[in-house]
Formats: sequence, C-alpha cells, structure tokens
Amino acid sequence: MPLGAWVRVLDRAILVMPMGDHENEVGTAPPRGRPKLGRQDTERRLSSLAKTQIKLPANAAVTGGPSTCPACASTNVIWGCAEEQTRTREEVHPLVWDDEQWMADSFICRDCQAGWIEPDEPETITWVRPYWKV
Ligand SMILES: [Zn+2]
Repeated sequence: MPLGAWVRVLDRAILVMPMGDHENEVGTAPPRGRPKLGRQDTERRLSSLAKTQIKLPANAAVTGGPSTCPACASTNVIWGCAEEQTRTREEVHPLVWDDEQWMADSFICRDCQAGWIEPDEPETITWVRPYWKV
C-alpha cells in the first residue's frame, strides 16, 4: 500500500472513533470559521432588542453562529446557552464545555445530539455525540 493510503487510513482511524454503547463518538470537521457580522447592523439589532441605543467599540468583532451541524449537516442547531439546553457542567462532555467560555461558544444539534465548540477563526472543529457524558 502506498504511504499516502496508509496516512489516509490512519487519519480516519484517529479522527472517527467507533461508537460503543457506553462511549461518546468523537469526530472532526473541516475548518469553516464563524460568519462575520457587520458592526452597524449588529448595533441596530441589539438596540432594537434592548430598546435602547447600543454602541459597540470600533474594534468590536461580531460573529454569528454556525448554520449546520458538523457531524450530520442538519440545520437544526441551537446555541449551547439556549434555554432548552439544561444539562449542567458535570453532565456536559468536556470537549463541549469550555472552562472559560462555558457554553457560550458551543452549539448543539437537535437531530443527532452532537455538541461542539465553534471557533471564531477557521480551525478544525471537534464534535462529540452525544454532547453529554455517557
Ligand atoms: Zn447533527
């Protein structure tokens, strides 16, 4: 077998671990980066929500959430801080819970229960299914 094929086989073996009854499935998805949102448009939306004038610093970087699940491509994704996500830090898988950001940069797929931290910049995404500890 040529070296390239071995590398590909090894890659896959490392990136996608088999899912047993008592383990989380962990996989990776290609980098995509979060969509950058315009500052003025964001100020308008935030001001409308808060019903008061909100000004962001000129250097504020505003990013949106992902529109698809990196594990199954579903568009049925929610923010990790959404009210319907009620699992505690002790229950959430450590690859989905960040010690500093908690669930603020995390997203969850309603269809396959995958969870992941969505990096602002294009970096490889690591997802865990289900997003809680099994
Ligand atoms: Zn999914």
